[in-house]
Amino acid sequence: NNGKKKVKIAVVGCSHGEMDAIYETMAMIEEKKGYKFDLLICCGDYQAVRNHGDLPHMSIPPKYRSLQTFYKYYSGEKKAPVLTLFIGGNHEASGFLCELPNGGWVAPNIFYMGFANCIQFAGLRIAGLSGIYSHGDVDFSHYERPAFAERDVKSAYHVRNVDMFRLRQLKAANNDKLSNPVDIMLSHDWPGGIPDFGDSAWLFKKKDRFKEDHKSGKLGNPALMKLIYDCRPRYYLAAHLHIKFAALVPHKGSGSERPQPTRFLSLDKPIPGREFMQALEINVASDAKMELSYDPEWLAILKNTDLLTTADKTKIVLPDRIGSVPCVYERKDFRPTAEELEEIAKLGDLTIKTDTFKQTAPPLKEDTPEAKNVPPSAYYRNPQSA
Ligand code: 5GP
Ligand code: MN
Repeated sequence: NNGKKKVKIAVVGCSHGEMDAIYETMAMIEEKKGYKFDLLICCGDYQAVRNHGDLPHMSIPPKYRSLQTFYKYYSGEKKAPVLTLFIGGNHEASGFLCELPNGGWVAPNIFYMGFANCIQFAGLRIAGLSGIYSHGDVDFSHYERPAFAERDVKSAYHVRNVDMFRLRQLKAANNDKLSNPVDIMLSHDWPGGIPDFGDSAWLFKKKDRFKEDHKSGKLGNPALMKLIYDCRPRYYLAAHLHIKFAALVPHKGSGSERPQPTRFLSLDKPIPGREFMQALEINVASDAKMELSYDPEWLAILKNTDLLTTADKTKIVLPDRIGSVPCVYERKDFRPTAEELEEIAKLGDLTIKTDTFKQTAPPLKEDTPEAKNVPPSAYYRNPQSA
């Protein structure tokens, strides 16, 4: 069937735990547009706080820490009206999220991507990276375990090179100069360099410190432009800087033909009067299923890069590292081989089952003064992370 239909996606930048307000805004847009959204994508600072025990693991000064509204969706008091997908930012219930390093359901109908992931929805490949860039932590493994030491509350949300290396393996084959291997890519902070591809004069006028930071290479994640050039996503969605900004990154092609450019969009924070939500309509096959599934290539990449995973605090030397360190890996190209993909195909149906969510912390029924007297959430073993 070659027919087409449109997937309707609502995108928000930072969520700040405002799930009620976000779903209400979506309902208003649905009424105006006369359609229903199929998916909500949140680009970090989501704040999946289950109870007061999750607050000490969130990087926010204690007097500003607040439960917000996610806990109602965790306890079952409310149900997300639209399938919701999110990456982490720099203000998260990091203890909860590190139960799910490779992603999983954090509540019915709400899916967290994990540190890095690529999944499919209606045949669209959606890749995401959680956290923000920090030079001092980027070469390390993910070693933080709750109850976090004071410093780990911050390093827990710093992005790691190993995850960006894995995402780069989603790139096209060397002789493929025309495809867009990824449809939508997500990160919380911006790819360093992105202002050059949009109206930077306008941006620097609006936000006076950005120009200086951009010039000195301090605005955003310096490794993400390479990810854009390698994976050529058709859309790139981000948040963090609390301003709506669009950009267009062209790609090199072959002769006069070239892949589609990357359309970058970052949105504002979710407060009334600010541009924090955007509707996207993307063509997909008319028989595309409106459900999530694992991406076979990503599963193969996770498997063939498993040698780079360590639970201890270790500096990870990556196979594509340029410099004086000799390459210790026999393999240089970690894009999945045909044989590796055949192994994954044996797994059969890769649909992500929707009924695997289980509460791992005591749900909060009501935010009473006594509810504050819970100890910091321990490290629960989440059955989905197996
Ligand atoms: P968050 O909401 O994550 O605490 O912080 C986002 C805020 O920090 C935004 O207001 C954003 O403009 C600011 N910010 C984040 N990174 C940078 C940066 O590299 N340079 C400047 N000037 N501001 C930044
Ligand atoms: Mn942020």
